[in-house]
Amino acid sequence: MTWTGANLAFRLDPEDEITGHASDEHPVKLAINSCTIGGVPGDAHPDLFAVAAWTVVAPWTRRRVTFDRAISADVAQALHDGWGIEAGPVGAEPRPAGSRLAISYSGGADSVAAATIYPNAPFVHFRRVAHPRVPNRWPHYRSDVLAKLAAKTGRELTTVTSDLEFTLAEPRPGYPEHHAVAAGALLLADRLDLGGLGFGYELGSRWLGGGRYLWRYTPDNPMWAPHGRWGRLFAAAGLHIVLPVGGVSEAVTMRLALDSALKEQVRWCLRGTDGPCRNCGKCLYKELIQAAVERRPLNTPITADRPVARKYLKKPPYGGQEMIQYGLARVPGIENTLFGPVLGYFDDLTEESTSWLEYCYPRALEEIPAQWRGEAAAYVEANVGMMTPDEVRRVETWGA
Ligand SMILES: [Zn+2]
Repeated sequence: MTWTGANLAFRLDPEDEITGHASDEHPVKLAINSCTIGGVPGDAHPDLFAVAAWTVVAPWTRRRVTFDRAISADVAQALHDGWGIEAGPVGAEPRPAGSRLAISYSGGADSVAAATIYPNAPFVHFRRVAHPRVPNRWPHYRSDVLAKLAAKTGRELTTVTSDLEFTLAEPRPGYPEHHAVAAGALLLADRLDLGGLGFGYELGSRWLGGGRYLWRYTPDNPMWAPHGRWGRLFAAAGLHIVLPVGGVSEAVTMRLALDSALKEQVRWCLRGTDGPCRNCGKCLYKELIQAAVERRPLNTPITADRPVARKYLKKPPYGGQEMIQYGLARVPGIENTLFGPVLGYFDDLTEESTSWLEYCYPRALEEIPAQWRGEAAAYVEANVGMMTPDEVRRVETWGA
């Protein structure tokens, strides 16, 4: 594969395929073999170029990858151990980790909560732009609005512009791997002296197999565990993956974000311009959580006959199921909303049975690298509190 400045072009080998699977096992299909990353320097360490490229090409690559400049033996080893891939050429000195932590900032509640834990951390914001050779059939995705909100936070901010999501034909434009959101941050790591990159992935994503992944306890999560294949690859390039809110649920990140100095800039919906659209599936899910956190009735224009409501009205499991249960147990009058019929799928929906979702899972703090752990632990102890052994057991038996 070849980088020309920050333009990446890659050629598949005969054994590669244009359909592949991301690390979360989600099937993806390749649309085009080039993309550009803007707002980054052209002279980063070769390992950073290699890892940035790998976040885009990993789903299609079967046996080997040849970079246009020599990488370190450490990164080659991490690619071999993690994916069984022969990577080269090898010949660079490893990149020493920098001293700073940046936040990969999306503006969503989880990301804002992560940012609040490190008030001095700079932000790197990924902004989608159109691909010159792929028609954009998703104009409702308002990346411009999110970028403007990020600029209003007052933080040191670098906005990376990229069309890399258009390398994906199916299911829709998006990150080939979740880690592709960090492609720009990787290329900025030398300039910003970065040794860590903080993401807003919370308890569900890191430990409960949440989102579109498996619905069970996942201590060895291949995407986000430090000892997982991506964690080891990023560390080999001197940029540790850090999950400041990896031990707390979306109810906690919602509360922290809406209590924070950045509350005016919180935005989880990609559609609205002046505020969340209130009509998409994500807005419905977040409204359930927010209503539970604020102890108020559900406030949504969405009715049960709408397609976006359908996935929450069928039988579980759902993505983010722990939060559905949390909301069902706590929102006043939930039985009179579109969620009413869902109550019958669960037999233990009480505040007590969902209270473990209000505290921090201790192992999540333990896996934060030492230089950034103390600040996160102090914040969590002061603002959240730790799980009891019984609550820890709820995490570790999830889905069992
Ligand atoms: Zn919305």
